[in-house]
Amino acid sequence: MIDYQLDDAGIATLTWNMPGRSQNVLNGDSLSALYARIAQVTADPAVKGILMTSAKPDFIAGGDLEWLLAANQAQPLFDAILTLHRNLRLLETCGKPVAMALPGSALGGGLELAMAGHYRVAADNAKARFGLPEVTLGLLPGGGGTQRLPRLIGVMNALPLLLEGKKLKAAEALKLGLLHAVVAAGTEVAAAHAWLLAQTATVRQPWDVKGFKIPGGGVSNPGVQQIFMVANAKLRERTYGNYPAPANIMSCIYEGLITDFDTSLKTEARYFVNCVLSPEAKNMIRTLFFSLGEANKLAARPKDVPLQKYTQVGILGAGMMGAGIAYVTAKAGIRAVLLDTSQEAAERGRSYAQKLVDKQVARGRMAQDKADALIACIVATTDYAQLAGSELVIEAVFEDRAIKADVTRRAEAVLGNDAVFASNTSTLPITGLAQASGRPAQFIGLHFFSPVEKMPLIEVIVGQQTSQATLARALDFVKAVGMTPIVVNDARGFYTSRCFATYVFEGLAMLAEGVAPALIEGAGLQAGMPVGPLALTDEVSAELCVKIDRQTQSDLGAAYQKPVGIAVAQQLVSLGRIGKKSGKGFYDYAEGGKKALWPGLAEQFPVAAQQPALDTLVQRLVTIQSVESARCMAEGVVTTARDADVGSVLGWGVPPFSGGTISHIHSTGVAKFVAQCDALAALHGERFKPPQSLRDMVARGESFYTR
Ligand code: NAD
Repeated sequence: MIDYQLDDAGIATLTWNMPGRSQNVLNGDSLSALYARIAQVTADPAVKGILMTSAKPDFIAGGDLEWLLAANQAQPLFDAILTLHRNLRLLETCGKPVAMALPGSALGGGLELAMAGHYRVAADNAKARFGLPEVTLGLLPGGGGTQRLPRLIGVMNALPLLLEGKKLKAAEALKLGLLHAVVAAGTEVAAAHAWLLAQTATVRQPWDVKGFKIPGGGVSNPGVQQIFMVANAKLRERTYGNYPAPANIMSCIYEGLITDFDTSLKTEARYFVNCVLSPEAKNMIRTLFFSLGEANKLAARPKDVPLQKYTQVGILGAGMMGAGIAYVTAKAGIRAVLLDTSQEAAERGRSYAQKLVDKQVARGRMAQDKADALIACIVATTDYAQLAGSELVIEAVFEDRAIKADVTRRAEAVLGNDAVFASNTSTLPITGLAQASGRPAQFIGLHFFSPVEKMPLIEVIVGQQTSQATLARALDFVKAVGMTPIVVNDARGFYTSRCFATYVFEGLAMLAEGVAPALIEGAGLQAGMPVGPLALTDEVSAELCVKIDRQTQSDLGAAYQKPVGIAVAQQLVSLGRIGKKSGKGFYDYAEGGKKALWPGLAEQFPVAAQQPALDTLVQRLVTIQSVESARCMAEGVVTTARDADVGSVLGWGVPPFSGGTISHIHSTGVAKFVAQCDALAALHGERFKPPQSLRDMVARGESFYTR
């Protein structure tokens, strides 16, 4: 696990090399091995200096999340953290010099361990990153990171790393003083060794030297006070108090820096335990790490279908979506044939990609030759013959069945027999669109989100006749372009649009009930959604909501059920306030200015004298999305809790602290959630009624996740 070697100069080299893993991680086993090595090298008088490194490309990737997700008792966790602190303190105060030779990334617990050394030398490795990303999973660095980092580089420099989980390249870490040296790759161990040999006096950490002062000032420094004030306000603005981890990190730093170092570690340990046991951390680790990881590894891909490699993909329609799809395709090095009805429209789609790469080149994020190569991958055309040889065609023309049917036939006429045809429709059932195809088994839905280059999710829709091989090959495309898939079955609104709509319509229903617009929007933000339901309606446009509703009504006939709140959207459309694109909706959009709620709303939707409490509105907005997700699972539209959660977080902005719509039910407890739904149904209507599947789960004592 950690190899040991003592050389003639008395330098003990400890080399991390966990068997059967591509990365070293901190868990029960590796920490026991570490403690044994620390005891050995600190006690042995033959050891004059200690060098720690890794036999793997990276140093240590961080803590073992499986272990943290399973932790459910405070005392054993607290004790385990104090043991870690004791050992790292023993290492850094033993009087012998300790050097860390870092071949690659040192992240999370890995960087915390590195900070317990007196000297850190890293390889000049472009892939290496240094940081404490715990906050992104609802955690805080529990290995002394919240205490050593600000004492090393100052509060101001430490905050972005701790609060945002920012990762640094070696040169940046060197500049901040987190690293002492960066040397040619492969020479870092020799450099650490040379440093150890050069130490003649007893080596101490800066914070163990009498009279130590925190770089940039301690918490009583007026400048640092101001940093805390601003950071606290910004945190509140960004998180609405929904995320315990960053608030705990701020407390750790503030409280820790006014005490001695050993007390500060105990403070950190308490906050760490609080974080690990919080439902927010469990939800974030489950969804953002495990479920997202499984989705990205194509857990839903049918096995035994050979991997589909992509060399050319056709894209029909060079509008907003087609242009974005062409960009991500070309970015993956796949030739994108972008077709529209006029050459001008096709070129406009290509110029969208040009603008995106120009911006990146200007910001130094992309080399000019890479940008040129990307653009050269996009062919703008009106000629269907150019589609020949494509392994996949993605249709993103107007949302019109007849036009979609026409382009399907024309494309299939030039495609090879085994090519896959995908539609990016947002509302039209895939099985119906496949009727225009001569090979419906190779017809599938690939529902991208807007803007494509920023939204990492693709909802893959399996029609009634879609074959398993087509699904596998479509998933290979999702992976090739580096996006995340969820797999759903064909149904009206699929999964994401259907659940997302409930959030919007619940907000509209509140307006009709007389709830003040600002309160509705505040409830949406307090629930953790990126924007309130009224602003969101403006984004998608009330006109589109009405149009989709009309289409649904005509498709479903007698089975149609009027969505709550639709009358509000209709009223806005009748007033000509169709949404953001027209500059007016629920909000007024001054050109170049900030949006403001339209003062005329009060006249249209009188505000009731008695207003509900904010948290009752929050609960409605959260519950309606989760109960609709549960219904989608019960109906087989989405088949795994994993996809339901990942789709909700990545697709329509359900907040990560909840873990997604199904994780919300899981962490609330299914029985309690059902009771909440029943209470809301009694007050607000059948739409809150939980599906029978949830009641059955309660009866059987089941939950959605085992972890
Ligand atoms: P858009 O109006 O911006 O672009 C459509 C493009 O298709 C236009 O450039 C148009 O010239 C072209 N086109 C029309 N008929 C054509 C034909 N016969 N042959 C070739 N090209 C033709 O629309 P959009 O927003 O990009 O949406 C396209 C599709 O993607 C729709 O099905 C829509 O429902 C779906 N979608 C949209 C979004 C979104 O947020 N806009 C999100 C997901 C899916």
